[in-house]
Amino acid sequence: MIYLDNTLQERLTEFYQKSRRLTILTGAGLSADSGIPTFRGKEGFWTIGSVNYMPEEMGTYEMFLDKPLEVWKWFLYRFNICIKALPNKGHFAIKELEDTFTDRFRLITQNVDGLHFKAQSSRERTFLIHGTLEKARCGSECSSELYPYPQIPLEKGQELTSEQTELLKCPKCGNYLRPHVLWFDERYNEKHYKLDSSLRVAKETGLLLIVGTSGATTLPRRIVESVLSKQGIIIDINPNENYFSELAQKKKNGYWLKGNSSDILPEFVDFFKGL
Ligand SMILES: [Zn+2]
Repeated sequence: MIYLDNTLQERLTEFYQKSRRLTILTGAGLSADSGIPTFRGKEGFWTIGSVNYMPEEMGTYEMFLDKPLEVWKWFLYRFNICIKALPNKGHFAIKELEDTFTDRFRLITQNVDGLHFKAQSSRERTFLIHGTLEKARCGSECSSELYPYPQIPLEKGQELTSEQTELLKCPKCGNYLRPHVLWFDERYNEKHYKLDSSLRVAKETGLLLIVGTSGATTLPRRIVESVLSKQGIIIDINPNENYFSELAQKKKNGYWLKGNSSDILPEFVDFFKGL
């Protein structure tokens, strides 16, 4: 094994023999190997007229209220990248870990791209804390019903036809639907994004693998802190130094495996299958 040294293997064996959960927390870095950009910063800017907007401005409820169709065009473009993308070795390794740990396994993901489900991760054990591009809901919250994401193959720079615009309206009240995702100016909650459920999972977690997320949002940080406070082990898997790798290096129960999740996660599969 390249990444799992003897000391870490001993810790993992010790964890395996107890009955606490294996939880995997995933973020955009995992899907980068599938060709999905992070849609943060310069990678995801969007032009309306002659003005360039940053993703942090486009992905907001404020922008949706002001320019609902522009926000939809941006999200339809993103969705069309996601439906063409395929899961990578990291996603498949996570699915294999679920098969190994069955009900001791939970997956908490910030990714809205649906790739975990394409790799056959189960919906029952997966918590979508930032929502999903597979669904839409009423932008006026006339009900909490989830609708299929509108199937409109829009490319960058294309305009919506009036028929396509109709597909973006709530069947109940006629106001615009919105993508079922957490926006930058919104807060985590249980109803849409499983806030309390994922914090409960954290409390039961004996081993947390943090994959491709840099700790930019509050809930992932709370999950990691909760695992540490219950004497769980945290392992950050990330090629780049980040908030979690720094935290892991300061804690006796923390490890940073510097590298690509597509290379490292299969080692965990081999290791646990061999026990
Ligand atoms: Zn409605």
